[in-house]
Amino acid sequence: MAGSSSPQDSSELKMAVSCYRHPEREGVYYCQKDGDYMCEQCACCRSPRIYCQYRTACVIQVLTQEGELEDCTQRKDDEPTAVDQR
Ligand SMILES: [Zn+2]
Repeated sequence: MAGSSSPQDSSELKMAVSCYRHPEREGVYYCQKDGDYMCEQCACCRSPRIYCQYRTACVIQVLTQEGELEDCTQRKDDEPTAVDQR
């Protein structure tokens, strides 16, 4: 029961975060307001009408305005626009 020093369990050092909607995709964008990582497809300000103190430095917001990212507020997504009534 001694001498087993082969480091075989060190393969789980996976620091990459995944998209909040696509666990298999890498979350390359981070929404500081919502605290979610997003893939390139999902990268979008989900609630642009709500004040965000990070917006002026939000890369998602900048890239959306520059046309680099798709503006999700102008497309019909597959998920219904749920009204939070809580
Ligand atoms: Zn995604």
